Amino acid sequence: MDSLTQSLQKLMPQLTTWRRDFHQYAESGWVEFRTAAKVAEILDNLGYALAMGRDVVDADSRMGLPDADTLAAEFARARQQGAPEKWLSAFEGGFTGLVATLNTGRPGPTLAFRVDMDALDLSEALDDSHRPFRDGFASCNPGMMHACGHDGHTTIGLGLAHLLKQNESRLNGTLKLIFQPAEEGTRGARAMVAAGALDGVDYFTAIHIGTGVPTGTVICGSDNFMATTKFDVRFTGVAAHAGGKPEDGRNALLAAAQAALALHSIAPHSEGASRVNVGVMQAGSGRNVVPASALLKVETRGESEAINQYVFERAQAVIDGAAALYGVKAEMRLMGAATSSAPSPAWVDYLREQASQVPGVRQAIDKVKAPAGSEDATLMMARVQQNGGMASYMVFGTDLSAGHHNEKFDFDEQVMAVAIETLARTALNFPWTRGV
Ligand SMILES: [Zn+2]
Ligand SMILES: [Zn+2]
Repeated sequence: MDSLTQSLQKLMPQLTTWRRDFHQYAESGWVEFRTAAKVAEILDNLGYALAMGRDVVDADSRMGLPDADTLAAEFARARQQGAPEKWLSAFEGGFTGLVATLNTGRPGPTLAFRVDMDALDLSEALDDSHRPFRDGFASCNPGMMHACGHDGHTTIGLGLAHLLKQNESRLNGTLKLIFQPAEEGTRGARAMVAAGALDGVDYFTAIHIGTGVPTGTVICGSDNFMATTKFDVRFTGVAAHAGGKPEDGRNALLAAAQAALALHSIAPHSEGASRVNVGVMQAGSGRNVVPASALLKVETRGESEAINQYVFERAQAVIDGAAALYGVKAEMRLMGAATSSAPSPAWVDYLREQASQVPGVRQAIDKVKAPAGSEDATLMMARVQQNGGMASYMVFGTDLSAGHHNEKFDFDEQVMAVAIETLARTALNFPWTRGV
């Protein structure tokens, strides 16, 4: 057995402890205060240079941020749940991202790895058929659950940090570990890109576990993410007596209803798949009142950035048209965004070579045909590629107890070792003098 695999086996109890701690104290997007502070503490102890909070998260580029009261309450909750005080304040106000850097002092490119830290707005199943509950690490935060495996991703980032530091003498150039907030709803990556966290990165790799990929299979260049735009629309009309003076009213409910139907009838595009979903509609205040307010929560998607842009522009026209029809005002607020992914072929080839050497990996392949959802690491990939670097997105297969975003989601923790070893090899075997 080679030494990397041995070190990982020694590290496995620690990895399990970290993962189960993050799972138990699950925190949704932008309120990962305890998680981020713990991550900072561990990385600082390992000797990494840290950039945190506002230095790596641009305030105005954050999307789908909870309101100020919620942020404050969750911050207090994190403190009460044992977030290390020394690091906590850097993240206050919803700036829960960090970048850990290992600068070897030797020449060479910058390799970056990105993991996400957020849980979902979902209450975990609390019954004995669900291992996290049975083994005492189910989420203690109601309405927040790690049902997508990001607790595993955070742990993979920490395990990788450990191995890279342990083997620092074999590395050159600069290594960066990016811990991203608020991936769910594709809300967080844009703010880290805007803060410049990806600038100077030459080789970038983002990861996910599970997603229907079987144990032993590693996808090295996922290219099937859809570009997406997520937005809320607030319609504001005029309330009036529905019996006595209906002509004085301006009906926001009807505008929203009209818009919802028309949004779902936007024509598809000849160049590829597209999607529209109106997921929430709320309107009105009372039976005998002309409804003066309505809210829609909408998302568009496209196989390419251009197709999503086409659908989004049509959606804007539909919403403006519906508002004009009923004489109401429509305000749109951006809540999330991601683009499509185009992994760099040479980097995918290199990742595949590394993954195929890892014990437990039966097949390392480029991609699968199945449609995926959306993922905002694509924005980071695009930034690195625009700057002349290479980027890819990997998926590490694992058995799941239930599908992603289900209240009984759980995964085989062994996948963390497979992912860590693959990423560690990627850095340790990197041809520093010539690049890939
Ligand atoms: Zn998810
Ligand atoms: Zn996920």
